[in-house]
Amino acid sequence: MSRFWSPVVHDLTPYVPGEQPRISQLVKLNTNENPYPPSPRVQAAIAAANVDSLRLYPDPESSALRASIAGYYGVAAEQVFVGNGSDEVLALVFQALLQHEAPLLFPDISYSFYPVYCKLYGIAYRTVPLDADFAIDPASYQQPCGGIIFPNPNAPTGRLLSRAAIEAMLQQHPDTVVVVDEAYVDFGGDSMIPLVAQYPNLLVVQTLSKSRSLAGLRVGLAVGNAELIAGLTRVKNSFNSYPLDRLAQAGAQAAFEDDAYFQVCRERVIASREALVAGLAALGFAVLPSAANFVFARHPAHDAARLAACLRQRNIIVRHFQQPRIEQFLRISIGTAAECQLLLSALADILADGATA
Ligand SMILES: *Cc1c(COP(=O)(O)O)cnc(C)c1O
Repeated sequence: MSRFWSPVVHDLTPYVPGEQPRISQLVKLNTNENPYPPSPRVQAAIAAANVDSLRLYPDPESSALRASIAGYYGVAAEQVFVGNGSDEVLALVFQALLQHEAPLLFPDISYSFYPVYCKLYGIAYRTVPLDADFAIDPASYQQPCGGIIFPNPNAPTGRLLSRAAIEAMLQQHPDTVVVVDEAYVDFGGDSMIPLVAQYPNLLVVQTLSKSRSLAGLRVGLAVGNAELIAGLTRVKNSFNSYPLDRLAQAGAQAAFEDDAYFQVCRERVIASREALVAGLAALGFAVLPSAANFVFARHPAHDAARLAACLRQRNIIVRHFQQPRIEQFLRISIGTAAECQLLLSALADILADGATA
């Protein structure tokens, strides 16, 4: 608390990111980063960048990057927006498109940044409960609202909502923006980007942080009707004209231009996920069906907080949320095959200890 703060600052509840400890030999399965390095083309593009040019401002429109993304998805460059990580893109989306009189709707168990943005911008919101199987129930979104946002697949559950269900939602709310946050879609879902031609109220948000191994570069994007993108651009240009630096623009563009590498990488993550799910099930865990690069699992006989603490003692970190309905779950990011194996053997030990304790 400080008398120097603006009034709004006193009431903020900032988002708490998963920890980034500086311990070597750590098996870090807590923030859904990709276990594989970015494409070698990213490295080459950044190495080839002329450091002298850093004295000049970057392209404020990120034109070359947006053209690459537009080409990749078969949309026009005017339908693509980029920002400094999708968290920044989402912040601009909340301010530009989701701030209305009627409440914004999002799932009760979802990305915990959403209520933080609502607080920051004074946006009224209502959370909509997931069903008993932790899935989004489209019928429960049939109510007056100022906007809808959800991740697909959802975080931290990993569950995927079908295209048909999303289309039904878009049709039920023709005058309301529906934002699909596709941070994890490359690990097991279809992007809704092909639907933007049909639905002017659809905005799809993606990130290069997860499936393209670039969490440290900070690049996110949104694809939608040109009108929605123009709204985002107006807010961006009233906040920071240059959200992406020269290196980020070059690196992100190279990532989109190396599709072969991207496909191999995501297939490896998916294969590790399937092996991890089988290993967890063999240890007695109940695992929600995941279309993401993490799994959400609980053990009927072992407390999740204790399991997370025991893993930590063995230098393995996973995410545990102290939140109603999910406090008995662990969210485990998919590591390399070797990391997944280390996790499984540690859990086997811990469960055996717990049984005799
Ligand atoms: C990781 C994540 C993001 C943010 O990613 P950035 O690194 O800011 O691009 C957005 N939405 C969800 C649901 C996420 O899990």
